[in-house]
Amino acid sequence: MRIEIPNAVEEIIGKLNRHGYEAFAVGGCVRDTILGRTPGDWDITTSASPYQVKELFRRTIDTGIQHGTVTIMKDHVGYEVTTYRIDGEYEDGRHPKSVVFTSSLKEDLRRRDFTINAMAYSHETGIVDEFGGMEDLAAGVIRCVGNPMDRFTEDALRILRAIRFSAQLNFSIEPETRAAITAIAPNLSKVSKERIQVELTKLLLSDHPERMKEVYETGISPYVSEHFHQVDYQRLCVSPQLPRQKHIRWAAFLKDEDENAAVNILKDLKLDNDTIARVRILNRWAGRRIPAEKIEIRRAMSQMEPSLFDDLLVLKQSVGEEGIEALKSLTEEIRRAGDCVSLKELAVTGKDLLAAGMKPGKQVGETLSMLLELVLEHPEINQKELLMGKIGC
Ligand code: ATP
Ligand code: MG
Repeated sequence: MRIEIPNAVEEIIGKLNRHGYEAFAVGGCVRDTILGRTPGDWDITTSASPYQVKELFRRTIDTGIQHGTVTIMKDHVGYEVTTYRIDGEYEDGRHPKSVVFTSSLKEDLRRRDFTINAMAYSHETGIVDEFGGMEDLAAGVIRCVGNPMDRFTEDALRILRAIRFSAQLNFSIEPETRAAITAIAPNLSKVSKERIQVELTKLLLSDHPERMKEVYETGISPYVSEHFHQVDYQRLCVSPQLPRQKHIRWAAFLKDEDENAAVNILKDLKLDNDTIARVRILNRWAGRRIPAEKIEIRRAMSQMEPSLFDDLLVLKQSVGEEGIEALKSLTEEIRRAGDCVSLKELAVTGKDLLAAGMKPGKQVGETLSMLLELVLEHPEINQKELLMGKIGC
């Protein structure tokens, strides 16, 4: 079987081969290409040592040289080239204590997590599939390479990777692998929250975000975090139609939580502050009905960035809230009319108030808020003289 690989990958493999080394595209890129998906990146595995790789290529970066990885830059794209290796014992359920280089491709493939991720390819050799990856790809199955209990014990992050891949690819988890996930789940408490979060975010951004249920049904959730475990997953409603943006998908997942609980979950998982702030607002407003009246819509709009208001409507629609089309067209009208919906658009600024003799301090902010409230009700009075007149200046 011949698959398409980028020219740069072919060149890297060719050059290594010409110098007497074996080299193959490997892992996710092979899996995705066979499935007709576009790989995020291309990884190469080789019998050459990192130093031998560095000798052959002009532009390289020592990405993880102690683990055998060198990045080769070609046209501003990086290709990770890793020496065939066997991972040593895992000391903390995450990091191998040591890695040992090997001359055997098969040994390198054996250390990989799932059969579908353990295939290599070159035009010269074709697909190297030592562990039944092609069969599992065809059947849509996530299965560990080797004994699942051992593999999850070595590295507990694989537990979440299994569920994440099943959501991205719409695959089922092979029963023995699934049973091991449940058995080894407690080891997840050794995995850093950031890494857990990265997997859960990928899961939510996938074509099957509803598979988040699996995190609960397999018994993993208590080890993600206490707050996370308390989510009522039976009510979970994350539509695959939602835009693939993390604040929207996390907000959909946490829609029925109260605001503080939602924020705590995201904080536990070390999400970035920007995402947390957006989810907080979406969560707050997702549970409130916005009447189809321009005043009410402007009030809601004034509480968030314009794009977040659009996200809110999309979120509400995705959970079947009625009357969203009416809100959307009124929002359009408000925007077309250029109505003021934020302090930024108010015809009066803090500077104007100070110039009119107001003392710096709390009163400035309060006056601006009061004027904004007025303008939200009566957009036509958003004119400097009129507003200054209202406050007697
Ligand atoms: P994607 O990049 O789409 O998330 P991927 O399969 O490329 O998926 P990476 O995390 O980029 O995943 O890893 C590349 C390859 O390295 C995997 O395909 C797998 O062969 C191997 N690998 C990655 N993480 C692990 C792990 N925790 N245990 C064993 N093998 C792993
Ligand atoms: Mg990858």
